[in-house]
Amino acid sequence: MSTSAHSPADSLTSTAAAVREGGQVTDQLVEANSTYAKGFRDPGMDARPVLQVAIVACMDARLDLHAALGLELGDCHTIRNAGGVVTDDVIRSLTISQRALGTRSIVLIHHTGCGLESITEEFRQDLEREVGQRPVWAVEAYTDADQDVRQSMQRVRTSPFLLHTDDIRGFVFDVTTGLLREIKPAS
Ligand SMILES: [Zn+2]
Repeated sequence: MSTSAHSPADSLTSTAAAVREGGQVTDQLVEANSTYAKGFRDPGMDARPVLQVAIVACMDARLDLHAALGLELGDCHTIRNAGGVVTDDVIRSLTISQRALGTRSIVLIHHTGCGLESITEEFRQDLEREVGQRPVWAVEAYTDADQDVRQSMQRVRTSPFLLHTDDIRGFVFDVTTGLLREIKPAS
């Protein structure tokens, strides 16, 4: 058997291991930044998003919000977490976005194949068993992305802190086609 044949999975694993050992990933980012800064010109922008929109989306690495939605620098606020779930901290950001920085519209984006579909609330108990302390936050695992988008829209719509709740739209992004599918709000 040849020892020089590597499957793509092997090479991915060894690359990841090399990055971990050397702490090279951050170095790589810092190096990329110095190249970026060389071509960067101060756009002279205000902090208020040009399109007056805040987007709440999953942190998933396959979801490139600016490319997928045709957004430019300065256009929007992007608020991301595991699942794109509307947590208290997301409401905090949306409240600041609307009241201090002038946004009026909210777009919620979940996606197919989300990591949150592969775990359950058991995750909290597992954590407690392992570290002796249960986290105060909910895992917010879900099995039905459409339903979770509806619930997220509802949480935003019923927040007492937001100024503008008349333009809230929710979508599921398909990571295999790049297309958004709109979810109708619960009536
Ligand atoms: Zn996700």
